[in-house]
Amino acid sequence: MSKPKFLVVGAGFAGAVIARELADAIDCHVDVIDVRPHLAGNAYEKTCSETGAKYHVYGPHIFHTNDARIYDYLSRFTEWLPYKHKVLASVEGVGDVPLPVNADTISLLTGKSIANAEELEVVLAEVRVDIPKPENAWEYALSYYGEQVSELFFRRYSWKMWGIDLRDLPVSVLARIPFRTGTNPYYFDDSFQSMPKAGYTSLIEKMLDHPRISVSLNVRFSKEMELGYSHTFCSMPIDEYYGFEFGELGYRSIVFEHRHGEQFPHEVPTVNFTDTGRYTRKTNWDLYPGLGGGCEALVTYETPCDYRENNMERYYPVKTTDGRFSKIYECYRDVSKANASITFIGRCGQYRYFDMHQVVANSLTIARRFLLARG
Ligand SMILES: Cc1cc2nc3c(=O)[nH]c(=O)nc-3n(C[C@H](O)[C@H](O)[C@H](O)COP(=O)(O)OP(=O)(O)OC[C@H]3O[C@@H](n4cnc5c(N)ncnc54)[C@H](O)[C@@H]3O)c2cc1C
Repeated sequence: MSKPKFLVVGAGFAGAVIARELADAIDCHVDVIDVRPHLAGNAYEKTCSETGAKYHVYGPHIFHTNDARIYDYLSRFTEWLPYKHKVLASVEGVGDVPLPVNADTISLLTGKSIANAEELEVVLAEVRVDIPKPENAWEYALSYYGEQVSELFFRRYSWKMWGIDLRDLPVSVLARIPFRTGTNPYYFDDSFQSMPKAGYTSLIEKMLDHPRISVSLNVRFSKEMELGYSHTFCSMPIDEYYGFEFGELGYRSIVFEHRHGEQFPHEVPTVNFTDTGRYTRKTNWDLYPGLGGGCEALVTYETPCDYRENNMERYYPVKTTDGRFSKIYECYRDVSKANASITFIGRCGQYRYFDMHQVVANSLTIARRFLLARG
C-alpha cells in the first residue's frame, strides 16, 4: 500500500505544527506550500538590507504562555532568550506612561500620588461615570476608567486600530484588557516569556526539517492540488477557499514604515501613540533581545488599515457588536464540516485571533484528534 500523502497550506505556526505532528506519528509524506517566499508566516524576521538590523517583518512578536506543555514542545526546536515585555504609551503633555493601565498610569495622568489599590479606587471613583449596565465598550470604559483614560487609551486606539468607534464594539473587547491595581509594569503575566534565540524563522525551519516533509515556497494553493492527497490542512483564509460564497470576512491589516537612524528616547522597545494621528505604535528593534544590531537604529511605525488597502494582507479578524462577520464565518465552517478531506487550521482558516502559543496548542489538538480518528 502506498504511503498516505497530506497537503498543508501555509508554512506559519499552524501549518508547521500539523506537518511535524503527522510526520513524527506515521509513515507518510507531507507537502507544505506557502504563497509567500519565506517560512514562519507572520512571525517571519529578516535583516534590513540598509542597516543590517534584524527585525520582525510583520510587527514585533513576543512569545508568552502559561502552558508548560507548549513551551516544552517549542523548546525542541529553539533555545530561548529571556525577555519580559514592557510597553509605554506616549501622552501629549504628560510623557510616557505604563501600559496596560496600572496605578502609575493613573497617577501620572491625574497628578495624584497613589500608594495602594485602595487609594487607586478612591481616585477612580472620582472620575468614573455612573453607567450601571454598560451596553457597549465605550460605556464600559467610562464606567470603569472615566473619560480621560477612556478617550486616550481606548477610544482613539480603537478608532485607529479597527476603524470602529468604541460604541460599536461589544463590552467583551475591553473587559478582557488587563488592568493592574498595583504598579506591575509588565505587559504579560505569563509564567513563560521569551524570544527564540535564533528567531522564529529558524524555529519553523527546524520544525519542518524532517525526511517526511517537503516545503515549496512561492506556491499559491489551487483546488486541483487537493486531488493528489488523502487530506488537506488549510491555513489560507476560509472565505477565499470557498470563493466568498457567503460574503467576505473582515480583516484589519497594518502598513509598516521603517525609518533609519531615528532618535528613540524611550526605555522600552515598543511605544504606543495616544494622539489622534494615524500611527498606533513604533518599535526600536535594538531594544529586543536577538534583534536590531544594525549600523544605525531601525524604528518601525505601524498604521492600521483595511486589508484590501494593503495587498490583501489579513492580520486581525474583526469582531463587531452585531457579530456580522462571525455569522458569515459560521456559514463557511458549517460547509467545511461536510467535507471530510479538509481541515481548516490557524488564524485565517478558523477566523480567530490566535497568539502564537494559542495557535500551537490549537494545531496540536487538531493533529492529535486527526491521528486518533485515523486509528
Ligand atoms: C502585527 C502582529 C503582531 C503580532 N504579535 C504577536 C505577539 O507579540 N505574540 C504572539 O504570540 N502572537 C502575535 N501575533 C499573532 C501571530 O502572528 C499568529 O499567532 C501566528 O502567525 C498565526 O500562525 P498561522 O499559521 O495561523 O498564520 P500565519 O502566520 O498567517 O501563516 C499562514 C500562512 O499561510 C499562507 N497562505 C495564505 N493563503 C495561502 C494560499 N492561498 N496558498 C498558499 N499559502 C497561503 C500565508 O502566506 C502564511 O504564511 C501577531 C500578529 C500580528 C499580525
